[in-house]
Amino acid sequence: MLLKDKVAVITGAGSGFGKITSKLFAKEGAKIVAVDYNEESAKETVEEIKKDGGEAISVKADVSKDSDVKNFIAEAVNEFGKIDILFNNAGVFKPGNVEEVSFDDFKTSFGVNVDSIFLACKYAMKYLKESKGVIVNTASAGGIIGFPQAVAYGASKGAVISLTQALAVDYAKDGIRVNAICPGTSKTGMTKEALEDKDMCNAYLSPIPMARFGTVEDIAKAALFLASDQSSYITGHALPVDGGWTMS
Ligand code: ADP
Repeated sequence: MLLKDKVAVITGAGSGFGKITSKLFAKEGAKIVAVDYNEESAKETVEEIKKDGGEAISVKADVSKDSDVKNFIAEAVNEFGKIDILFNNAGVFKPGNVEEVSFDDFKTSFGVNVDSIFLACKYAMKYLKESKGVIVNTASAGGIIGFPQAVAYGASKGAVISLTQALAVDYAKDGIRVNAICPGTSKTGMTKEALEDKDMCNAYLSPIPMARFGTVEDIAKAALFLASDQSSYITGHALPVDGGWTMS
């Protein structure tokens, strides 16, 4: 087991990458704090983990809200006594170019995708220092290269990569590693609707050298690598998990 007795706080744990990663981390021995603003879906993740013999709790939170973030970090410590892994994964995708995306949606993208990480790290850092823990942030290949029709998403995910680098540099001396995952395109909850459009689907599939979309399992395995000691000398890295898209 790669995460035996570790406590992992995972945001966006109700669906997509967050759900599959929560289940994989639990299988590897971690106790899971499943955070989502969709309370029902977070509870489902917890039930599925428990059915497989794992330990988990769910916490309802809007990750872009200061008081909610403070609360789920406190809940994690109350329940399990420590935090070893913080996986900042909750996010939103608001499709469109700069003329189409509203300013409100642009700000929401930064709130959910970026402010959330700033806040969770702020409140969890004390505990991560004690555990010499690990932070994994879900960025995106769209934070490295320009994705079509994704101005708000791309800009916010670029900020996630910069934030990851800054955190890695500041906290290496405390034994804390901070890395980001940069998924390419997967047909998961977030992108499902947008990719139902044939032109959009082709625009995203054609530049991928491996000629397929990613799966949630592809992403979860990369998250496990970065969250475990398998990546013990890696920090500040943004790891593309994208079938070669950003290399082509
Ligand atoms: P992906 O395809 O990246 O996994 P999903 O849409 O399936 O995307 O998952 C994103 C998760 O993040 C969902 O479970 C969603 O409920 C959650 N989420 C979105 N916005 C927030 C928010 N503001 N606070 C907490 N969780 C959120």
